[in-house]
Amino acid sequence: MPLVGIREILVEARTRRYGVLSLLAGNLEMIIGQIRAAEELRAPLILAFSQELTPQVPLELAMPCLVRAASMAHVPVATILDHGRDLDTIVRAIRLGTSSVMFDGSSLPYEENVRHTKEVVRIAHAVGVSVEAELGTVVGLAGSANSEAKGVCSLFTDPDLASDFVQRTDVDALAISFGNVHGRYQGDPSLDLCRLRAIHSRVSVPLSMHGASGLTEALYREIVASGISKVCYYTAAGIRAASDLRQMLGPAGQNDVCYHEVIARAIRFFETDTKALIKLMGCAGAA
Ligand SMILES: [Zn+2]
Repeated sequence: MPLVGIREILVEARTRRYGVLSLLAGNLEMIIGQIRAAEELRAPLILAFSQELTPQVPLELAMPCLVRAASMAHVPVATILDHGRDLDTIVRAIRLGTSSVMFDGSSLPYEENVRHTKEVVRIAHAVGVSVEAELGTVVGLAGSANSEAKGVCSLFTDPDLASDFVQRTDVDALAISFGNVHGRYQGDPSLDLCRLRAIHSRVSVPLSMHGASGLTEALYREIVASGISKVCYYTAAGIRAASDLRQMLGPAGQNDVCYHEVIARAIRFFETDTKALIKLMGCAGAA
């Protein structure tokens, strides 16, 4: 199936009110397991590669893997450079064939965020690449098992600004802040769903939620029903994957395990885990 952009996948998700997972795809085990799950459940999927993974995993090696895997899939799969913070990296990702990029200018003053996002959109749209941008700040550290964060109200997305931002920048998806945090939540997540619904009613493009690990099943249903179309999920899956491998390996010296067996186990883990998540987002059968 040809590679698709997040725009194609998410417009339909917004109309039909289901969530599409955007999963960190940092190695082959993750990529293979996640795509198998999407194919088995006939669900669209987004494979994300974060700039934060470089330089350990070079973009030049990772992005072509994501792109190739997405094009080989039997369901629509998009690729995205997650949290691109500079034009150089974004242009490199586009040259490496990604179907979508995220520009994260959320730490910039509003007018600067608009200006930089517009520039990324101009370059990306010229070659048919979709763009996600962020307005308001999602605090916390993605993939950090040891630190916890709480949403900061003053950094939440303003619904009126969101509408202005989308009109002026022409982005394809907007990442918003409404109590969501990267990494682990401190205490129970406290999400401002009224704000989410207000943004959804004022903004014409699909909305993206970063930091979607660790919610209750009921809350996933609520965020999707309230207007989130793209659900970026990693930390909780990363912690579950490590614990699954710990079970297999046991205490040092107890089990004789060869590395390729670890690879096979990890692929199986990501396949099973992703299937459960897809069902939770209500997008099984959507592809
Ligand atoms: Zn994020």
